[in-house]
Amino acid sequence: MRLREFLIGTALMSFALVITQAGPPPLFHDEVSNDFVGEKKETTEPSSSVSIPPDPSPLIAKDKILRAAYYDTMSILSTTNLCSDFFGGPAASVEAFNQLIGRMRKEYLSGSIALRMTGQTTNMLNAATRKEYRLFEKVQVNAKGPFYRNSFPFSDTSFSHIGTFEPNTRQARVLIFLHELGHVVKGEDGEWLLPNDGNNDKVSNENTRRIQGICGDQIKGLDKSETKTLAP
Ligand SMILES: [Zn+2]
Repeated sequence: MRLREFLIGTALMSFALVITQAGPPPLFHDEVSNDFVGEKKETTEPSSSVSIPPDPSPLIAKDKILRAAYYDTMSILSTTNLCSDFFGGPAASVEAFNQLIGRMRKEYLSGSIALRMTGQTTNMLNAATRKEYRLFEKVQVNAKGPFYRNSFPFSDTSFSHIGTFEPNTRQARVLIFLHELGHVVKGEDGEWLLPNDGNNDKVSNENTRRIQGICGDQIKGLDKSETKTLAP
């Protein structure tokens, strides 16, 4: 399968500051310390989850499949586990994912593309967590691809699995989302968590396998939970 992103014009166009909660002024990333963890130790509130922000776009509100996948993914990212840790922890990953999905449009694309991100990127800084991520100008989910369908339109030819998951399943959709999140979140080493894989199926599949290796337990655990419909 091809989870292709065409990473064009990735020059750092601007540097946006996102403030999601009150906190100290942002520092540059090489000054980052572990004080988010420190804060968690001192609070008496449950520290294992963060609240999920409102629907990021009208599309999420009206497309039931997209909405379920969004809240399934949020249910993983908003709690402390190996998967959310990989993406910088619940607070940072929830914000980055919410912003990513806020840019998503549903379009009719050719081939086996599930979702792609293209165009100029904007670098973002979460002031509270000091985690960096980027947003692509265009985020397109393919209405004719394996996010929504088992096979090509007007054909018996099935789409390839997403990792080990059948296309057009709850698990595949979450894995598709988490793969894309890996392209937008910056790691502690200053690199994006996943390397660019536009037009390179081999790297794309390796990226998907890597995310499933980290997040597979959480994704499989979705079977045990009802589809989330948290927000009105
Ligand atoms: Zn990719």
